[in-house]
Amino acid sequence: MRMTKARRDILKIFNENDKPLNAEQLSKILEEDYDLSTIYRNLNFFEEQAILRSIVFSDKIKYYFTSKGHYHFVYCTKCKKFQKINKCFEEEFKKHINKKLDFEVKSHTLYFEGLCHDCKNRRDYDEAND
Ligand SMILES: [Zn+2]
Ligand SMILES: [Zn+2]
Repeated sequence: MRMTKARRDILKIFNENDKPLNAEQLSKILEEDYDLSTIYRNLNFFEEQAILRSIVFSDKIKYYFTSKGHYHFVYCTKCKKFQKINKCFEEEFKKHINKKLDFEVKSHTLYFEGLCHDCKNRRDYDEAND
């Protein structure tokens, strides 16, 4: 794999950041001023190489994260904030999947999307004041 400066810079950020990032967030964190098309091209490249994985939520924004991590997140579709969940259901789920499907689980990623504490409160407030 040819490592350009842009690729090195991008990977560094993903390795230091434990939350998924979209291309725009990444461009703001990058010290160098790469244009978005360079960023997208390199994100696609890393995805093809299975170094990064991506996920698209119902708001159609694509997020990337390193494929070596173990991720549990909630994602707020309003303010676009990720929060980590520290509880792992792996053993329980594994047993269930193994029993039902006779499938050997190797890894998992878990996401929930919805509204965070602040956005939920703001919505309730807005509804009450309509
Ligand atoms: Zn929110
Ligand atoms: Zn887990």
